[in-house]
Formats: sequence, structure tokens, C-alpha cells
Amino acid sequence: MLLQQQRQKVIDIALKAQNEKLMPLTMGNFSIRDIETGYICITPSGMEYTLLKPEDIVVVDLEGNIVEGSRKPSIETQLHCRTYKKRPDVMGICHTHSTFATAWACCGKEIPAIVAELAAMIGGPVQCSPYAPMGTVELADIVSDSIGARNAVLMENHGMLSVGESIDKAFANAVIVEEAAKVTLYATQIGGMKTISAQECDYLRRETQENYGQK
Ligand SMILES: [Zn+2]
Repeated sequence: MLLQQQRQKVIDIALKAQNEKLMPLTMGNFSIRDIETGYICITPSGMEYTLLKPEDIVVVDLEGNIVEGSRKPSIETQLHCRTYKKRPDVMGICHTHSTFATAWACCGKEIPAIVAELAAMIGGPVQCSPYAPMGTVELADIVSDSIGARNAVLMENHGMLSVGESIDKAFANAVIVEEAAKVTLYATQIGGMKTISAQECDYLRRETQENYGQK
């Protein structure tokens, strides 16, 4: 089997995302890009995560053509492929419909940078990409453009997409966006929210990239 380890890792992340309650049912999709082959391992469409086996994860090329796998890949395969195409630094992607992030997305509003770890990990406010129907190439193009150099973007009336240099980082970013979406909602209710300046966001991002975690 091609890329068995990577396929298992995609399943592990889908289960972690379900544990973190990042989406209802199977309304999310997860992928890894393999460094050596450039192939993408992505979750199948509409299958219960707890039942997934490595052979259920579909291996596709950068155009979305199936390389190996008998399952139908996620309907958002093009969303993943086009994001990988535009972001050579990205090796893992999570797409979820987590509640608080989706609430901001349903208002077409960006999540401002008020939470320090959002600035540090995502690089600034989480912008909201314009609406396009789910599962379309139009959506894939709009969202992969809107994310720019950041590590997450909201998708209007739909959900959010997070990326990272590994799927673990993409998953952590999905959790951070959801937490920030929740905190920011409470902060707006308290009133007098203080945003972090663009300059400070850049500083926090740089510092985190250089110094955070075990070397
Ligand atoms: Zn979706």
C-alpha cells in the first residue's frame, strides 16, 4: 500500500478533531502531502471516522486524480489540492465546521487578532473568504486565494480551513482558531476589545517560529 503511515496519520488527526468537537458528524476533511512523492492522502467522502482504515484514505496527485484507493475522496479535494499548489510550505490541511469559527464565517466577519496565540500561530486576524458553494472548484480557488500567507481562513456560510508545515500544526491551528473565535465572541459582549497591532502580530509570529517548542 502506498503511504500507509501517512494514511494512518490522517485517520488519527480526523479522530482527534472529532474528540475536540471541531465538527458535527463527518463534516470536515483532512489531508497530508507526502514530501517525497508530492501525493496527497485525503479522507474519503462521508465515512464515519471511527471505522476508517488506512486503505480508506485516498491518495491523489496535485490535480486531484486518484493514484490509489477505492473510496470516493472528500468532495473538498480540490480545496486541498489548490491550497497545496499555492503554498509549497504547507504539508497538512484541516477543514472543519467548528461552531464558533463558523458563526463568524456566517456573518462574513474576520476574527480580529485579540488573542496572542492567534497572532503567533496564524499570523494575524483570520480573514473570511467570500461565499461559494461547497465542493466546487470556485470555492477551492476563492479560499486558496484568500488564505494568502496566513495559516487559517474562514469560509463564508461554511466553516474554516487551517494549514501547517505538518498536519499536527494544521490541527493545532484549527483548535487555536476555534478557541479565538469563542474568546472573541465573549470579548465583544464585554465590550472595549483591544486588538493586537499588525506590527505586534508580526513580532509574535516571528518569535514563535524561532523559539516556541522543543528544538
Ligand atoms: Zn465543509
